[in-house]
Amino acid sequence: MKIIDFLEQICDDDPSNWRNDYRYSQIIKILKESDIKFEEVQYNNGAAKNIYVHYGKPFVNIFGAHYDIVPNVQGALDNGASIAELIGLAINLKEHAVDDTTIAFLDNEEFLGGFGDIDDVGSKCMAQNELKDDYKRSIILDVCARGDVILTREDCDIDFSGYKHDVQPMPVTDDWVINSTVGLIPKDKNGEASMNRDDRSLLLSVLPKSELKSRDTWRMLHTSDDNMGNVNIDTLKMMTSFIINLAHETPQKS
Ligand SMILES: [Zn+2]
Repeated sequence: MKIIDFLEQICDDDPSNWRNDYRYSQIIKILKESDIKFEEVQYNNGAAKNIYVHYGKPFVNIFGAHYDIVPNVQGALDNGASIAELIGLAINLKEHAVDDTTIAFLDNEEFLGGFGDIDDVGSKCMAQNELKDDYKRSIILDVCARGDVILTREDCDIDFSGYKHDVQPMPVTDDWVINSTVGLIPKDKNGEASMNRDDRSLLLSVLPKSELKSRDTWRMLHTSDDNMGNVNIDTLKMMTSFIINLAHETPQKS
């Protein structure tokens, strides 16, 4: 099964299936068909529903992406492609074990487009309820569907050997909030999670070189152009192999 096949299963052609609950059920279906063990975890009385796949100790090295979509778009770029790539990673890790890696399918990132409660964002639920002080790294994929330049933070310490990369010149998506939410430093001794940025949490996106500074691209990502026709199969392959390679590295302890 190829990554594009997973993406097609998540992003149905029928607009009546452009719903979070449909995508959730499709992820579960693919994981079951791939014989991958997973857990479904609900937070805030079911307001947020995350799916986790664990290899070894949970929530040490995390690869995540939000699965929810903006209403009335297919959501192939934002963020179905990243979900399909994570499924590719999960299958690889089932067959080529690594220690202490969690793959997280996260709810409610798009909640923040004007409605919803930030406490129900799936990445924040994970950060506040699951991450321990000594977690090593959290890589969050968002809009990894076209182009060959991996966008990252200036102070990113990942080894990009063999891959083009650039510093984010602007927020290409408004999903930047996911970085600060998942980057919540786990609860301090007073039981409060800090909103300070945690350098162990990193957001990665991909764009074509010519569009790195394009406002049109930014708009497209959240509109009716967010569909399968704009997905590049080579990008899916590139990002899947990139995160597989990353998962097989041993991150340095911070
Ligand atoms: Zn997104």
